[in-house]
Amino acid sequence: MYLKSIEVQGFKSFANKITFEFHNGITGIVGPNGSGKSNVADAVRWVLGEQSAKQLRGGNMQDVIFSGTETRKPLGFAYVAITLDNSDHNLPIDYEEVTIARRLYRSGESEYLMNGVSCRLKDVNELFYDTGIGKEGYSIIGQGQIDKILSGKPEERRELFDEAAGIVKFKRRKAASLKKLEEEQQNLTRVNDILSELT
Ligand code: ATP
Repeated sequence: MYLKSIEVQGFKSFANKITFEFHNGITGIVGPNGSGKSNVADAVRWVLGEQSAKQLRGGNMQDVIFSGTETRKPLGFAYVAITLDNSDHNLPIDYEEVTIARRLYRSGESEYLMNGVSCRLKDVNELFYDTGIGKEGYSIIGQGQIDKILSGKPEERRELFDEAAGIVKFKRRKAASLKKLEEEQQNLTRVNDILSELT
């Protein structure tokens, strides 16, 4: 699996639609200060479901939408799509290629798409469990993150190892099942209370 392309339109400094194509091997993005290099990484974070404007170096989520320049009006929406090669079927989906897209309008309306079909953020998250990709994954190492990992709590470091070991999806499923069990337990208690009132 590898990142084949990133398409951006109206995202941060990228007003026009632009597609970055990647091939096997290493790709470097170079450019003067402030030309938008980090915005490319922000676009990947964002499309993978980043919910924190701070992580995207903004004040609120609408800040990712192109806000205009002296010569160009602001735009009404931001759109990012990433396409991954899945010919090794590392991602649990029956496609050779997977495109994840996210769109946000100034009104706050937003949507995620998986291979062109509208989906939930939960579906995007689940697709990438245990792959290292995803907003919590280790595939994007931001500035200062290595320091944060090294000086972080052991439990935080453990999360990275869990992801690499491929057990995150089981831990999430276990947590969801325990939550359901807890709810069922509460329902049972309520039924028992009603029963004892009736008898
Ligand atoms: P450096 O080398 O200094 O780290 P960089 O190439 O990584 O810089 P970025 O931080 O990616 O640059 O881009 C910053 C630029 O993006 C700034 O010029 C800023 O005005 C522009 N920018 C950020 N958000 C928006 C937005 N919503 N609309 C228009 N431009 C934006």
